Amino acid sequence: MPFEHLSPQTFTAGWNSSRLAAAVIGLSLFSTSTRAEDLIDAALKFFLANDSNTAGFDLDKSRPQPVTSDYKAMVLNSLPKEGRLTKLNELRQRKLDSLGAVLRLHQRQSVYDFAVFESAPKPFAFIGLHQRAVLLISDAALDLLDAEELQASVAHEIGHEYVWAEYRDATQRHDNLRLKELELICDGVAILTLRRVGLDPARLPTAAEKITNFNLLSTGPAWNAERYPSAGERRRFAQAVVNWADSHQGSGVTGK
Ligand SMILES: [Zn+2]
Repeated sequence: MPFEHLSPQTFTAGWNSSRLAAAVIGLSLFSTSTRAEDLIDAALKFFLANDSNTAGFDLDKSRPQPVTSDYKAMVLNSLPKEGRLTKLNELRQRKLDSLGAVLRLHQRQSVYDFAVFESAPKPFAFIGLHQRAVLLISDAALDLLDAEELQASVAHEIGHEYVWAEYRDATQRHDNLRLKELELICDGVAILTLRRVGLDPARLPTAAEKITNFNLLSTGPAWNAERYPSAGERRRFAQAVVNWADSHQGSGVTGK
């Protein structure tokens, strides 16, 4: 599933992708256009200022404290060794290397480690930020996405740091509407990030759609599809964030 976050239970179960896609849940019953606009408005509020005198959300001022190196070491130790790819071919390595600009912008270049893993028995495209310390990337995702799409996807994962506690709480409450809203907020952080590093924000929805379509063909419908906004909602929200950022051009907080 695109941008999914693995639970500790997933790790005890190993990397088996069929476990990740084990259950099939129907699409949300609440996908009328009115609900979609409500969802987009709710997510957009995160970026708006409370009053007209302030510029609104600021990537730098709002950035969460990174995890410590001790914590990261503990998280890395907890990952299963089996299935982890330690030697990457040149093309895969080049794509990982391309993430430097996005990580540097968020001061995460020495905070995160990468863990590239083999998805089996069927290829499964997955990118997730585990415990705010390790970027988990499956072999299938690394091969499927080009460097810019990978950067867009990782920028989305960095966005999760900004709403980490809210996401955990919404997951525990099974509040799928809130989870969709938080996914859109992460898209918004990604879009602002991509503008700052000079990449086209349109690569974000393209990457998400490529992952969804790939997994649908490889492993079938996602068990947690109802937690994610639709492709249309993501594209509409992305345009709303671009419009908002354009209107704050020159404020120094939204990139170009
Ligand atoms: Zn996400």
